[in-house]
Amino acid sequence: MLDLEHNQKLIEITDHFHATRHSAAKAAPETRREFDRDGMTRAAELLLRSSGDDPLREGVQRTPERFAKAMRHLLDGYGKTVAEVIGKGVFAGEGSGLVTVRDVEFYSLCEHHMLPFWGKATVAYYPGNKILGLSKIPRIVELFARRLQVQERITTQLADALMEAIAPRAVAVRVEARHLCMMMRGVEKQHSDTVSETFRGLDNLTAIEQQRILSAITKEAHA
Ligand SMILES: [Zn+2]
Repeated sequence: MLDLEHNQKLIEITDHFHATRHSAAKAAPETRREFDRDGMTRAAELLLRSSGDDPLREGVQRTPERFAKAMRHLLDGYGKTVAEVIGKGVFAGEGSGLVTVRDVEFYSLCEHHMLPFWGKATVAYYPGNKILGLSKIPRIVELFARRLQVQERITTQLADALMEAIAPRAVAVRVEARHLCMMMRGVEKQHSDTVSETFRGLDNLTAIEQQRILSAITKEAHA
């Protein structure tokens, strides 16, 4: 336990140092995204008309523009890559202890109904030779969440992104979420969380390490 805390502290310090040192580089422009704001506005007009409401009614007159603006924000994960988000946030390993980033909040839209789902992601990994700046994990979560998604894909994309970026010995990811497409349509499912988990490299771990990484992603999951 001490070992884990010690490691996390080290990483936080490293990351803070990095952020300070590279603040100028961080302001570099992101890749421009292909978002058709006019098309999204027209789609919202059609939605309004198709719903049976009056698109000329005062309250909804500017709704298509507002909708397009909101969507541009909620879907801005398309214009970025994991590599861009990580930037220079990879460092030489500081020991081999388990690293856990717990309960990263996210908001996404399900690709089946385009309705929100939201929850939290927990990522735990045993480093190889490299570690990732702690602040990068929430940013990778956000990158994947701001696309049309299914929860399971966010889970596996997170694990794969870590494998690719820092080749850890093992990664465990757990995502818990609530889906409006379930909650608004099915009374019985109003309080049910959907849980998805994925693992990479568990075979590389000792039995004790396996136990620790498993409990790391489940511990306090319902707190
Ligand atoms: Zn759905």
